[in-house]
Amino acid sequence: MESATPVIVAIDGPSGTGKSSTSKAVAAQLGLSYLDTGAQYRAITWWMVNNGIDIDDPAAIAAAAGKPEIVSGTDPQAPTITVDGVDVAGPIRTQEVTSKVSAVSAVPEVRARITELQRSIAASAEHGIVVEGRDIGTTVLPDADLKIFLTASAEARAARRSGELKGADVHSTREALIKRDAADSSRKTSPLAKADDAVEVDTTELTLAQVIECVVTLVEEKRAGK
Ligand code: C5P
Repeated sequence: MESATPVIVAIDGPSGTGKSSTSKAVAAQLGLSYLDTGAQYRAITWWMVNNGIDIDDPAAIAAAAGKPEIVSGTDPQAPTITVDGVDVAGPIRTQEVTSKVSAVSAVPEVRARITELQRSIAASAEHGIVVEGRDIGTTVLPDADLKIFLTASAEARAARRSGELKGADVHSTREALIKRDAADSSRKTSPLAKADDAVEVDTTELTLAQVIECVVTLVEEKRAGK
């Protein structure tokens, strides 16, 4: 299904709520592009680590924020991410990057750089785009046609994450996840937050298929002008 006017969908929420799986499937089903903004923050973090930048020094991170060239491929069936031409899809998912990304993403110069990139990708998506992250509905694309905020209990989120991490300990996954969400929610510059006009979907008791169906219906209703 395609429409003449591109549709912009913002999907925000903490980790483990099913954001990525939902966003990719919705985009694929509706013929839209897809952007994983968490991957962009992970990519810049990977570059900082690889280039010996001290993650505990926000001034050093700010000074280097403009250096790496980050390119996102927006096909929902095969999203890609490169830094200075290097495929970093694997390396950005390591424990080291995951534990450092909140410190890097809290630096205003990093956010300004990545936000600009996100806006230009969204503006050039021919049929529209599903953009997933933490501040898409509030800061990056405040005029999005549809804003979704996914939530789930900490237990459900930890269980999903440790499943993805192939059996990682649920307790330590839960602690790490809560710590990262707290850092992302309490930072000064565009924290993780629900936009006032976002539709909140609690995914705790829902299957992935149900969440996808719910979001697809909401997009179709928007397109139909309801
Ligand atoms: O979604 P994912 O877990 O890959 O995001 C990794 C990190 O990137 C988050 O913990 C957060 O620090 C940062 N992020 C952000 N704003 C976004 C998306 C992700 O600050 N829009």
